[in-house]
Amino acid sequence: MYDYLIVGAGMYGATFAREMTDKGKKCLVIDRRSHIAGNCYTENKEGINIHKYGAHIFHTDDENIWNYVQRFAEFNNFKNSPRVRYKDKIYSFPINLFTLYQIYGVQTPEEARQKLEEVRVKNDNPQNLEEWILSQVGEEIYDIFIKGYTTKQWMKDPKELPSFIIKRLPIRLNFNDNYFFDRFQGIPIGGYTKLFENLLSGIEVQLDTDYFADRDYFDGLADKVVFTGRIDEFYNYRFGELEYRTLRFEHSYHAIEDYQGNAVVNYTELDIPYTRIIEHKHFEFGKQPYTYVTKEYPEVWQKDSIPYYPINDDTNTKIFNQYKTLSKEETKYIFGGRLADYRYYDMHQVIGSALAKVRRIEETISA
Ligand code: FAD
Repeated sequence: MYDYLIVGAGMYGATFAREMTDKGKKCLVIDRRSHIAGNCYTENKEGINIHKYGAHIFHTDDENIWNYVQRFAEFNNFKNSPRVRYKDKIYSFPINLFTLYQIYGVQTPEEARQKLEEVRVKNDNPQNLEEWILSQVGEEIYDIFIKGYTTKQWMKDPKELPSFIIKRLPIRLNFNDNYFFDRFQGIPIGGYTKLFENLLSGIEVQLDTDYFADRDYFDGLADKVVFTGRIDEFYNYRFGELEYRTLRFEHSYHAIEDYQGNAVVNYTELDIPYTRIIEHKHFEFGKQPYTYVTKEYPEVWQKDSIPYYPINDDTNTKIFNQYKTLSKEETKYIFGGRLADYRYYDMHQVIGSALAKVRRIEETISA
């Protein structure tokens, strides 16, 4: 008999399992996929670690979380500075003074401020995402960075999208092109899968094992079940299905040393069906004479698609809240992670929430 059956070998499940194992609990981790690491999984191909479910850059402002992950991997000092390609021009991104120089020729923060004030489309009551962005930055920036990219990502005209999707459009009036502001960031040297192997070291893991294939059997194996899968699936979709945005990744090998000179290049033109190209070797400063790249295509959501980004609109939030209410009543089951919480989390947030959950359980036991 196990103390904990943990459904999902992703960041939440693996962190929870590590902590409870270190506290002397007996844990079994299962995952329906044939590998550990959930969406952080990297596959090593000829020395290049391919981020199979999208580019993952670790970043956090929390020193405790940063120290925690250092126990399981050495991190390099990778800094994320994507580029944007639009109509055969390359732009610095996130939008900063150099980007504004490329578009308008402005050279100082004050010139940039004045230019933005001049080009923005004044509107005191923007009704949708397009109107809102135009009121902030004007047409040229909207066309280059937002219009096509957002239409591709959401498969909707930005006129039909609410402005809260892009809560704020960061425009930096300096030359800082570091995507994240966090104090700590990097990529685990040797890939995320290695980090997870260390995180799960000494813990029993069964892959290709679906909890729903025999729920009663799995429930009978342990005192408590930690569920990190989809909460709507857990409750057999009784209140309806939660929607996600999904993606298709097209990986390819190229017998050249460098394909695009950067880890991430966003393609913002509507006519190009993918949203970005990732060149994996740049995450670890690879020197191989060949390379692997991945094109990322947004796809229409279907029930058996891989869920990537939750769509936290009113309809889905209402459905989720009904599941959440049920889950609060459970005594055998513990829910955690991005699918059970139906929230987009970065990796450091998932680790933080698993560590917090373990702390709360400990406090309840010792109270
Ligand atoms: P998951 O990684 O999804 O793990 C859940 C696991 O549960 C899966 O392996 C699944 O197979 C398993 N499972 C589900 N149901 C069952 C079942 N019935 N039986 C058995 N197993 C089951 N975060 C960052 O910090 N930086 C980034 O740059 C970044 N980039 C991202 C890019 C993309 C495209 C996406 C989608 C996410 C990105 N993230 C990034 C977020 C990061 O992927 C998540 O924070 C993290 O993977 C969440 O971990 P998790 O354990 O909650 O979920």
